[in-house]
Amino acid sequence: MEISKKDIRALTKEQLRQFFVEQGDKAFRGNQVYEWLWQKSAYDFEAMTNISKETRKMLEDNFVINHIRVDQMQRSSDGTIKNAVRLHDGLIVESVLIPTETRTTACVSSQVGCSLDCRFCATSRLKRMRNLNPDEIYDQVVAIDNESRLYFDRPLSNIVFMGMGEPLMNYNNVLKAIDKITSSEGLGMSPKRIVVSTSGVPKMIRKMADEEVKFGLAVSLHSAIDEVRTSIMPFNAKFPLKDLREALEYWYSKTKNRITYEYVVWKGINDTQEAVDALVKFCKFAPSKVNIIEYNPIDDGEFQQASNNAVTMYQKTLERNGITVTVRRSRGKDIDAACGQLANKS
Ligand code: SAH
Repeated sequence: MEISKKDIRALTKEQLRQFFVEQGDKAFRGNQVYEWLWQKSAYDFEAMTNISKETRKMLEDNFVINHIRVDQMQRSSDGTIKNAVRLHDGLIVESVLIPTETRTTACVSSQVGCSLDCRFCATSRLKRMRNLNPDEIYDQVVAIDNESRLYFDRPLSNIVFMGMGEPLMNYNNVLKAIDKITSSEGLGMSPKRIVVSTSGVPKMIRKMADEEVKFGLAVSLHSAIDEVRTSIMPFNAKFPLKDLREALEYWYSKTKNRITYEYVVWKGINDTQEAVDALVKFCKFAPSKVNIIEYNPIDDGEFQQASNNAVTMYQKTLERNGITVTVRRSRGKDIDAACGQLANKS
């Protein structure tokens, strides 16, 4: 009978060192293998050329490397790249490379599907199958870093957790992945270049504050009026705006980090002065930035982007109240790679 092999990347460096000691080898062998697994992103034990053949065989007998495979890569006319990523159990997630003049941003997934039910988001139509492991999140980043070097001649500069899934509902694995991404034994990226985007899970926002994380936080708000927010993001009934706001106040008191809100303006839903006023009132407790994102239509056509006038009204009102505002155009729409369009269509 085949004994089930362990995912070697679930081991910490110390555990790996310990494993080699138990095998009668040197702890240092653990460091070498660890470097292959993370810094050098080895897909298999064969690649570990400074490890003896017998040791590689022994590793092969005991462990697997559950590396992701980029199954399909699509390129948008604007340079955006979407990867369909196959996981070791055959499930698929998507990640996106977004190039600008000066930056390359990776948009990565944290779950297969999503358990939330935002009515405007294509991913919400997919059942949540499982959480991604830290190594599966890390691998997505490495794949995009490689593509950035290959196609744009520069390394990846930023990461946003805005792909499939709700990162704060896979908190431990997301944090472990970020630890590896920022560690000198991983990619050595600055946490300041990472943003975790959440629909707003108050308990987890408090936890992040307590742990004094160094990466940025973005909240997908879309409405500061409970009734409206619940109608488009039904889980808001469970985590109402008052709880979200208190958690964010706590976050700000601990981190002193500005809060970013993501916001889409839809025709007939939140394109009124009353909606903007509620937003201004909601943000007032801390320095804030509102990213107004363009709506990317998904199949059922229930939602419609608001008029330019409505967006301008938002912009002017927010600015008048000292709130930073940016209006973002979508990227990668032609290949369904824009916000809210990730749904494994191909
Ligand atoms: N679950 C996390 C991250 C994934 S979504 C979150 O909710 O923040 C990334 C962003 O895209 C969120 O702000 C989300 O509200 C937004 N979004 C979802 N569907 C969209 C669509 N069809 N058009 C534009 N933005 C959308």
